[in-house]
Amino acid sequence: MSDHLFYQTRQTRPFIERAEGIYLWDAAGQRYLDGASGAMVSNVGHSHPHVLARMSAQMQSATFAYRLHFQSDIVEQFAARLAKKAPKGLDKVFFVSGGSEAVETAIKLARQATLARGEPERFKIMSRLPSYHGSTLGAVAVTGTPPFAEPFAPMMQAMPKVRAPLHYLDGLDPEDPGTAAHYLKEIEEAILAESPESLLAFLVEPVGGASTGALVPPKGYMEGLRALCDKYGLLLIYDEVMTGGGRTGTYFAADQYDAVPDMIISAKGLGGGYMPLGAVISRNDLVDDVLDHGGFLHGFTNAAMPLAAAAGMGVLDVVEEEQLCDRATRIGGVLFDRLRDLQSAYPFIGDVRGKGLLLAFELMADGQSKQVLPKELNAHVKLVNIAYENGLIIYSRRTRNGTEGDHFMICPPLITTAAQTDELVALLDKSLG
Ligand code: PMP
Repeated sequence: MSDHLFYQTRQTRPFIERAEGIYLWDAAGQRYLDGASGAMVSNVGHSHPHVLARMSAQMQSATFAYRLHFQSDIVEQFAARLAKKAPKGLDKVFFVSGGSEAVETAIKLARQATLARGEPERFKIMSRLPSYHGSTLGAVAVTGTPPFAEPFAPMMQAMPKVRAPLHYLDGLDPEDPGTAAHYLKEIEEAILAESPESLLAFLVEPVGGASTGALVPPKGYMEGLRALCDKYGLLLIYDEVMTGGGRTGTYFAADQYDAVPDMIISAKGLGGGYMPLGAVISRNDLVDDVLDHGGFLHGFTNAAMPLAAAAGMGVLDVVEEEQLCDRATRIGGVLFDRLRDLQSAYPFIGDVRGKGLLLAFELMADGQSKQVLPKELNAHVKLVNIAYENGLIIYSRRTRNGTEGDHFMICPPLITTAAQTDELVALLDKSLG
């Protein structure tokens, strides 16, 4: 580790030399296949010439102009394109620099909208256990991963959590309508236990991210959640930081449910790793109410930076021109089947799940009992390190129930070809072996 930098641990990695497509090279010339798109970020791959060209063109005009001093054509155009991607009625965009900032923005917008409506008693955000919504204190308060929150508990207002629909552990069929009903009943009970008029919003990843290991909700769950939010007056906020940008097969995962949220939070694949970028896309009337009621008390210096918008526009061009949403479905389907083949070969792969190219597998003592591996094994770190030595990057977490369970995200860039999928699977096979 350098003398001056610090991250989460003292673990060191080689220095990055260059990155192109789905590969990165370290200073010693070792090549790595990016099986996690960084942290589910590099949706269009690294160093895409089109994105670099758009950024370069923007750099010749203006990289930064403070949004309260100047409007910017490219920022306006980008907002309009995102609004078009979002469900009807969600046309108002606030740009920030990443996922946590976007979560904070959504929470503060929701709160100010309810104040504008004259319902000051609504302030609690209900979310799920497990879940991940970011690392700033407000986002930690709504994140359902207890170890991430415990040290800060005295400094935060505790926010209510309900259990995510872990149907694969509960032995329930995700296609059976009774399964969603089972988990929705738990949510309704939690809402009633909290006194519903104190609840402001329900925050949910429409396909789970790293905390659940790509948990796909059972059939009818999102629609039922929408109905519960309507019944008790909660806003429904989709955290699409990881699912957005085409990763699950549509630009936003919201398109795959008959349940329209009141806000969508986007980041990661939005800037694609070219610039720090996040956004909240909100229902128009919520924003209008807030602006008519004294303004939006919020702001980040770098929000709506023209250079970041140029990067985002370039990434969006590539997603559209190379039809990467369809490709996520197609290549994701192939990869899912190949992961299932590995599951047949290795009984300690207890589950394979996900949607599009948001895929994961979970290591267990065995697939029958669904018991987690002993903590001392440190499997979630070990397998990542073995894969790394083999030139494959994967992303892991030990948070099945918010605290335990070893799962691994397999989320290569959406530009991954069939041949590169074979290569990824071969490297993973070798590492598992
Ligand atoms: N929400 C979700 C669903 C995420 O996956 C993440 C990042 N892993 C965040 C929010 C926070 O985003 P960031 O790290 O860009 O602040």
